[in-house]
Amino acid sequence: MKFQDFHLSKEITRALDGLGYASATEVQEKVMADALNKRDLIVKSQTGSGKTAAFGIPICEMVRWDENKPQALILTPTRELADQVKEDITNIGRFKRIKAAAVYGKHPFAYQKEELKQKCHVVVGTPGRVFDHIKRGTLAIEQIEYLVLDEADEMLRMGFIDQVEAIINQLPKQRTTMLFSATIPENIKKLCLKYMQNPKNIEI
Ligand code: AMP
Repeated sequence: MKFQDFHLSKEITRALDGLGYASATEVQEKVMADALNKRDLIVKSQTGSGKTAAFGIPICEMVRWDENKPQALILTPTRELADQVKEDITNIGRFKRIKAAAVYGKHPFAYQKEELKQKCHVVVGTPGRVFDHIKRGTLAIEQIEYLVLDEADEMLRMGFIDQVEAIINQLPKQRTTMLFSATIPENIKKLCLKYMQNPKNIEI
């Protein structure tokens, strides 16, 4: 399926052309239309399938540039993945001038605080540090409309469940939640049942 079929804005289309993405991968094909329609999604897919762009493209498409507070929050299990997702979002949102910030542990809090103070549309981070910023009031969450739990099984395996739930409990109820995971064990099903509205299951 070609990206033209999704009727994306010219800024996003131009960025995808620049990245050399000609047609959508399977996960993108199955996820993008629902994500653009703000449907909650539980997506079973592996790394390397193009899953980052599957949520990154719809988020970049829907973000309003002139809104000063973050509109999307992406939680990842590791710092490396947070940086990677930030880079992908920056590339996809390049011609819309979308700004993404990455926040994670073992990295100066003050530096991240400054980054979050600037205009920032998308925040990517590990659960512990994201919750820290929310608690200290350095990450504004009132305008968050999209929540992505990336590599959710890994995140729970690393013991982040309490922080993930604490974060979700602070977010606006009116939001779109997308979960991506290589496996969907019982604890993830429970999490989805608790925090999603009529989610669609997608398996790649
Ligand atoms: P991910 O599964 O998100 O880690 O993506 C795996 C790799 O596929 C990354 O290097 C992406 O840049 C690349 N990629 C994602 N979507 C596409 C696409 N539609 N066409 C070509 N490459 C892609």
